[in-house]
Amino acid sequence: ALPVPDKKVDSVCPYCGVGCQLTYNVKDNKILYVEGRDGPANHGRLCVKGRYGFDYAHHPHRLTTPLIRRADAPKDPKLVLDPDRVHEVFREATWEEALALAAGKLKDIRDTKGPKTLVGFGSAKGSNEEAYLFQKLVRTGFGSNNVDHCTRLCHASSVAALLEGIGSGAVSNPVMDVTQAEVIVVIGSNPTVNHPVAATWMKNAAKNGAKLVIMDPRQGELTRLAWRHMQFKPDTDVAMLNAMMHVIVHEGLVDQAFIESRTIGYDELKKNLVGYSPEEMAPVCGVPAETLREVARTFATSRASMILWGMGVSQHVHGTDNARCLIALSLMTGQIGRPGTGLHPLRGQNNVQGASDAGLIPMMYPDYQKVADPEVRARFEQHWKLQPGTLDDQPGLTVIEVMHAITAGKVSGMYIMGENPAMSDPDADHAREALAKLDHLVVQDIFLTETAVLADVVLPASAFPEKTGTFTNTDRLVQLGRQAIDPPGQAKQDLWIIQEIARRIGLDWNYRHVSEAFDEMRHTMPSIAGITWDRLEREHAVTYPCTKEGDPGDPVVFIEDFPREGGKARFVPADIVPAAERPDAQYPMVLITGRQLEHWHTGSMTRRATVLDAIEPDPTVLVHPLDIAALGVKPGELVTIESRRGKVSLYARVDEGTPRGSVFVPFCYYEAAINKVTNDKFDPVAKIPELKYCAVRVTAG
Ligand code: SF4
Repeated sequence: ALPVPDKKVDSVCPYCGVGCQLTYNVKDNKILYVEGRDGPANHGRLCVKGRYGFDYAHHPHRLTTPLIRRADAPKDPKLVLDPDRVHEVFREATWEEALALAAGKLKDIRDTKGPKTLVGFGSAKGSNEEAYLFQKLVRTGFGSNNVDHCTRLCHASSVAALLEGIGSGAVSNPVMDVTQAEVIVVIGSNPTVNHPVAATWMKNAAKNGAKLVIMDPRQGELTRLAWRHMQFKPDTDVAMLNAMMHVIVHEGLVDQAFIESRTIGYDELKKNLVGYSPEEMAPVCGVPAETLREVARTFATSRASMILWGMGVSQHVHGTDNARCLIALSLMTGQIGRPGTGLHPLRGQNNVQGASDAGLIPMMYPDYQKVADPEVRARFEQHWKLQPGTLDDQPGLTVIEVMHAITAGKVSGMYIMGENPAMSDPDADHAREALAKLDHLVVQDIFLTETAVLADVVLPASAFPEKTGTFTNTDRLVQLGRQAIDPPGQAKQDLWIIQEIARRIGLDWNYRHVSEAFDEMRHTMPSIAGITWDRLEREHAVTYPCTKEGDPGDPVVFIEDFPREGGKARFVPADIVPAAERPDAQYPMVLITGRQLEHWHTGSMTRRATVLDAIEPDPTVLVHPLDIAALGVKPGELVTIESRRGKVSLYARVDEGTPRGSVFVPFCYYEAAINKVTNDKFDPVAKIPELKYCAVRVTAG
């Protein structure tokens, strides 16, 4: 008979930003199975990751004791460590010894080389409270703003454009609003893979008559339900979107009253669109002029049009420009500020929204309050009981800049909590060489990741179901994740570890419960000031902005004004900027990277989840049938993908949805770490790297 759980614990899914609520069914400190719960984002639905991706928490590879690098074990950036040979590189240590070494060396580096030689990477997988305390540790303990996390690789450009254009980096409407939209634009996103439960609401809406427009160089499963698929050439977003806006302006389809009463900068935008007629842009972007006209007219004149986008938009050297165009499209047609309209950058990680809100970014304190603003700094010095003038007034280094700063000898020590830049950073060999060059690297994680292998001290942390905390989903819903099981062995909760490091570098911290950290957070963050821990316990989820207690929270924002000067949104024109690296005779194809349904990001969790690993055990590359034939290989045979930076070999899989001349590779396989191939050139505004486009050569074998 199937085992019967001895307890049920309500929590949220640890994977994507949809934020599905679920229940862990537990017996003897083991999760038996997971059920969907009736949460605002999922109403009982779960995808394959949420339902079956839980037993990584019980995997024998879990770190169960602190580790210290052996004196005779050099840091080898090329090492792929067999879990059975960990003892050759690390020795086991007590918590006291590991914490003393981890914090002591960080403190030494700060005191001898200066605060800016230290960096912290927090995690979008951790809770809001962990993110908040981590950035506070870096800002008040390390002494600089050198703190960042994987939002830099995700939606940094979307957030930059949104803050600039409408004054808020978060979504204007929840995903569920697609059920109220007449036109749904999904651009640069493959939600059936990356946000599967959100995709089910889109499918429902399309089946109920909404016009679903997919704008993507690739053809995903959702395209089957699309009213129009605009399969633009990779890297030509601005050409396509400017052409659509050209139509709307020149055919008089703009919402003039909205533009006049609620925006600034329209004349400049209009002037910039002159050279972007559909006829001129059709050959550039590969979408027929008539389709550009038809979709533009339909978007502008519908009762409610909504735009959702993903990293196909954001991960370009022109990612900020791409998002600026989407914002302008929405503003000029007045398709924002009502149910079923608006702008929704689909967040990747389950807490990338919350970690960014909590200040895990180098240029902003919690709630996007600028570090360069003296009034803001003074306020945080007061919040954190610091002497005036203590906080650094310069924005810190971003993820990619950090790797270059290490190489240049400007950064000597790092504390990485729950991120795996050795796999996720572009030009990963360079990132690994940089990490190996550090004088001191402290990694806090649940597995000995490709990053942890390069550490001096490894601190065994808690998996998602082993701790309680709040997590903010893509809809701005702050949700409570509850502890269901205990960490294995001597592994500890992350909040405890951060605090122990903080104390040892001289901070007088004593947060006895996660709710105390949350309470401090809400006093520094006006957007969540009204959310109390009791309310979260009672209601499980509250939407922000929620500025005072009892406030129901606003799922749809910008109804009357925008959180910018004068309450007005701003148009920002964009012109075509080519990708940093174009195909040429030597590297004739385009590499697009992303995720696949069964695996999550760098694969450290899902590849250790039995069901998910059984479905997708091996690294594959998606190739168009004509390209695979031209290569002379059969599906399932090995191919090598090589760029100017590195190469990997993986198995070819035929995919008619991948455009000719391109290949698509998920970045979760350590044995074919595709980020060794990608380009680390970044968007000058948001510093997000161009993970969606680089030139490669594909060969058989
Ligand atoms: Fe988890 Fe996202 Fe799947 Fe929901 S859609 S179950 S949040 S991975």
